[in-house]
Formats: sequence, C-alpha cells, structure tokens
Amino acid sequence: MQICKTPVDLQALKAQNIGFVPTMGALHAGHLSLIERARAENDFVIVSIFVNPTQFGANEDFSTYPHPLEKDLELCAKAGVGAVFTPQADSLYPFKEAISLNPPKDLLGFEADLRPGHFNGVLQVVLKLFNLVRPTKAYFGQKDAQQLLIIQRMVQDLFLPVEIVPCPILRDFDGLALSSRNVYLSPEQRQLALKIPKALNTIHEAYKAGITQGTNLLALGQEILSPLEVQYLSLVNRQLIPLEHIEPNNSLILVAVRVGTTRLLDNLWL
Ligand code: AMP
Repeated sequence: MQICKTPVDLQALKAQNIGFVPTMGALHAGHLSLIERARAENDFVIVSIFVNPTQFGANEDFSTYPHPLEKDLELCAKAGVGAVFTPQADSLYPFKEAISLNPPKDLLGFEADLRPGHFNGVLQVVLKLFNLVRPTKAYFGQKDAQQLLIIQRMVQDLFLPVEIVPCPILRDFDGLALSSRNVYLSPEQRQLALKIPKALNTIHEAYKAGITQGTNLLALGQEILSPLEVQYLSLVNRQLIPLEHIEPNNSLILVAVRVGTTRLLDNLWL
C-alpha cells in the first residue's frame, strides 16, 4: 500500500478505475464497509484521511478530533487499499482561497443551520480531492444524508466525471450508528444515545404497521428520545422538503441529538 502525503505524490500514482473513499480517519467498520464495496467495484482503491479544517466551526471539535493514524493505516492495508492520501492542511490549502462553493439553497437547513459554513468546507475539500484522485466512483455513507445529497448535487451541477455511490449505515452491536465521535461518549452517555436507534426503529415499525402520517411517526420518536436534547427530528423527502406523509422510497427521517457535548446524527431512509 502506498502512502501519499502530498498532492504531488498522489498525482504521480499510475492507476485506473479508481474507487475513492474520503474520510477524516479514526476508521471504524462503517468506513471499512465503504472500502470493501470500493474494492469489489474498482481496480484500485484510494482512501483519504484528512480532518478538513474548513468544515469545522470555531467552537467545534477540530482540535480534539481523534487521529489514530498508525492504526488507520494498518486497517487500510488489511482491507486491501491501494493508496492512502494523508495530506497536511497547508498542502491542500497553499494559498488564500479565491473560489468558494456554496451548497444549494434548497438543501440547506438541518446541519447547515447548526453548523454555518460546514457544507461550504465539505464541498471545497471534496472537489479538491476529486480533482486530485480522479476517481471513477466515490463512496459516501447514508449516515451523513444531507452531505450525500449535497455532494450528489455538486456532481450533477458541475458535470463532474465521477459516480457517487451511496452506502448503507453500519451500526454497532447495540444499534448505535458507528461514528468516529462515539469515542467521546461515557458509558452512561452511550446508554442514553441508544435512544436514537430505538426511536428510529420504533418509527420504522410503526410505518410498517401502516402509520404514514409524519406528526404521528415523529411523536413516537420524540417520546423515546425525551429527555435528550433533540436538535431536529424531521420527516423530509430526498430533496429535503418537509413531508406530511411518508412517500415510499422518497422519504428520510433525519435526527440530530446532543448527548453531553457530543452531537450524534442518524437517519432512516424509507
Ligand atoms: P467521516 O470520516 O466521518 O468523514 O466519514 C467518512 C465517510 O464514511 C462518509 O461518507 C460517512 O458518511 C461514512 N460513514 C461514517 N459513518 C458511517 C457508518 N456508520 N456507516 C456507513 N458509512 C459511514
């Protein structure tokens, strides 16, 4: 496995049919499921590990985000990754940036309200990474639903020559969606956080039993989540427009909860 530390190292790689998995590191089984899919569908897999400063707000966890690089590299090597790109921020942002990308207005709200500027930073780094890696396919988790939708729109709007492959959410043994931020939770907080998958499961079961009205479904979820600090729990379609009733195969339940100082995101694609 090659380790590319700079854009120049990466551009020197001779590979075709590249499957690309962008990450911020602290890899877990969710990331590995994206890597596995990329391996199955491409000749060569590139993983980037980069905690992108421009997508973090001033009071967020940029400086404390976990960085177990050695362990991540071992996991990538075992998973059959061809190359890992681990740039420093100054190699991706050597100049004061002159061009900025704005996320589409109709896909704002939710994370964009709570993290102003977050998606501008995400689009900025993802476009740079696509231009450096030149992947045939790029793999993104449905765990970050809004990010996935916004990136799909960027690819569509800018005719980027890459296919975005959405990948299902991987969960831990207890149902909590895997996230690099789960390490911030104390055992007690983790128990509380389990209310999130429980709320989504209850909504799913109720939907399968025939309840389709949003207010009824969300009330069931809200009851389970109480007394956690729910930042949003919403039923939207896959263009992020609020829905009154579930539209089969076009609906999303989005949830963000704060447990202590940790924000946890989860969702259900229906
Ligand atoms: P991150 O390192 O958090 O930026 O995540 C890198 C990629 O892994 C993103 O496309 C995430 O959506 C995806 N991802 C994170 N957690 C999960 C999970 N539990 N299941 C599937 N994909 C995930």
